Amino acid sequence: MQHNVLGQCLCKSVEFKIENLSDKLNACHCRMCQKWVGGPLMALEGTGELTFIKGEGLVTEYHSSEWGSRSFCSKCGSSLYYTSKHDGKYYMEVGIFENLNSEKIEFTQQIFIDKKPHFYEFANKTKDYTEQQVLDIIAGKK
Ligand SMILES: [Zn+2]
Ligand SMILES: [Zn+2]
Repeated sequence: MQHNVLGQCLCKSVEFKIENLSDKLNACHCRMCQKWVGGPLMALEGTGELTFIKGEGLVTEYHSSEWGSRSFCSKCGSSLYYTSKHDGKYYMEVGIFENLNSEKIEFTQQIFIDKKPHFYEFANKTKDYTEQQVLDIIAGKK
């Protein structure tokens, strides 16, 4: 677990802290993530309290589907985190953090692997899930 991590957008107008961020890194290859960040979404699961230091009013939340919303800095456009509507968890983009204990981070999982473009592939050994497998897991939780 990563504790008291500082998230910051590109223009530094938005800064927040989050308690309890997972060490396990996930990549999502779905079409929405590709459009949102220009490639796979690389995110850490956050379950703790999100506390804004500054710029909360600049954060725009886009409701991208019935399952979740995506929050970004409306000044510089940095995408920040995805919020899951069914369990309230955050999926925080790994690149926005300033003080991660990066030696503890482990790339463990890729989802929507069947939507990944063929022109690249990660060398990391991960557990991979197709779109259908992800949908089955979500359906099982309801
Ligand atoms: Zn910004
Ligand atoms: Zn995605």
